[in-house]
Amino acid sequence: MFYTGTTSGRDRLSSSPRCDLVRVKFIVFCLLSILVISIFGPLEPHASALSNAAHGSLTINRGERLLVIAPHPDDETLGAAGLVQRVVAHGGTVRTVVVTAGDGFVEAVRQSTGQLAPRPSAFLSYGQRRIGEANAAAAALSPRGIRLDVLGFPDGGLLPLLSAHWDRLHPGRSPTTGRTAPPYRRALDRNLAYAGADLRAGLMHVMRQFRPTMVAFTDPEDAHPDHHAVGLFALLATDDWMQSRRESASWPRMFAFLVHWKQWPPDSGEPSVPDHIVDEPLDLPADLPLRDQERACLSLTDQELGRKQKALGEYRTQTAVMAPFLSSFVRRTECFSVNTRQNAQDVDAQIGRPVGHRARAATLLARRPLAHAGALAPSALHDAR
Ligand SMILES: [Zn+2]
Repeated sequence: MFYTGTTSGRDRLSSSPRCDLVRVKFIVFCLLSILVISIFGPLEPHASALSNAAHGSLTINRGERLLVIAPHPDDETLGAAGLVQRVVAHGGTVRTVVVTAGDGFVEAVRQSTGQLAPRPSAFLSYGQRRIGEANAAAAALSPRGIRLDVLGFPDGGLLPLLSAHWDRLHPGRSPTTGRTAPPYRRALDRNLAYAGADLRAGLMHVMRQFRPTMVAFTDPEDAHPDHHAVGLFALLATDDWMQSRRESASWPRMFAFLVHWKQWPPDSGEPSVPDHIVDEPLDLPADLPLRDQERACLSLTDQELGRKQKALGEYRTQTAVMAPFLSSFVRRTECFSVNTRQNAQDVDAQIGRPVGHRARAATLLARRPLAHAGALAPSALHDAR
C-alpha cells in the first residue's frame, strides 16, 4: 500500500523525492510482472489454486493412452470427463470400458415401465438404452470420438464375483436380467461368464491390447459395492498385465475417482444444485482414507466443464431420476487418489486369492481370441460426425 493518509498526506507523498522513488519502483515492479506472465503464462485459476493447495496437480504428457474403467454407464463421465478431454487435447488416446450396462436399476425401470415387478426383458432394454446413452456421452466429450467397450457384466452383482463366483464353472446370475453371461450384442466378448476370473481376464485383455499409460477407475473405497469391486478388478488386471510384460516396462499411472460416499458431493442431496457451485472445486471428502496415497486434481476449463455437462445430459434415463446428483459432479475440479504398484500387488491377498497362480491363470484367459471380434472392428469406435 502506498498511502493511507488523507488527501493532504497523499499530496505530500506525491510531491516528495521519496515518492518519486516509490513510483519508479512500482513501475518497475509492474513491468517485471508483465514480463514474467508473458513468459510463463497466466497464473492458475482460483479453483485450481484452492484444490492444489491440498492436492497435487495432475500432469498430462503428450500422447498419453488413458483407459477409463467404469462400473456403469455415466460413472466415466462423472469421475473423469475432464481427464478424458485433457488427454485428447494433448494428442492422447482414450478408451473406455463400461463393465455393466446398468441394467439393474430396479427403481428406475419400475418408474419407466410403471410395473412393480418388471420382467427381465424390461431390464435388458433399459441396459440397451444406457449403452446408447454412453455412446452419445462419449461423442459429446470428444469430437474425435472415444472408443467405448461394454463388457455386459451383472449390474448390482459384481462384488460376489470376487468370492462366491470367481470360477466360470460357478458363474453369478444377474438378479434383474436372469443371465449368467453378457447378453448384449455390443458386448466385447459374449463368451465371458459372470465370473471373477473372467472379468479380471477381460480387463487384462483390453490392457494388453491398448497399452495404457494411465488407468482411471472407481476407488476401491467407494461406498457402492459395484464401484468397490471394479476398483479392485482394475488393480488386479493392471498387476496381471504388468507381470506379463518385461520387468523394465513402465507401470501406467493409476487414478481412482470417487462417485458414492456418504453426504458427498456436497449439495448432491439438494432438490437442485445451485449454479454458483459449478465454479467451486470438488475436493475428495475429508474422511476418505488416505492410504498413504497421493492425490491429484485437474482444474477444468470452461469448455471442459461445458462438455462434461453436455455429456451427462445425454444420460436421460439417469437425469430422469437423479439429476441433482449428476449435476453435483459438474464442478471446477476432478480429484483422484493416485494408486501405487504396491496397492495393485496387495489386492490378491486382500480378497483371499492365492498370489502365486494369479498371473498365469489370467494370462491364459486373456490370450484367448475374443469371441466377438466385431466389437473391435471400426464400428465399435464411436465416431462423432
Ligand atoms: Zn455407478
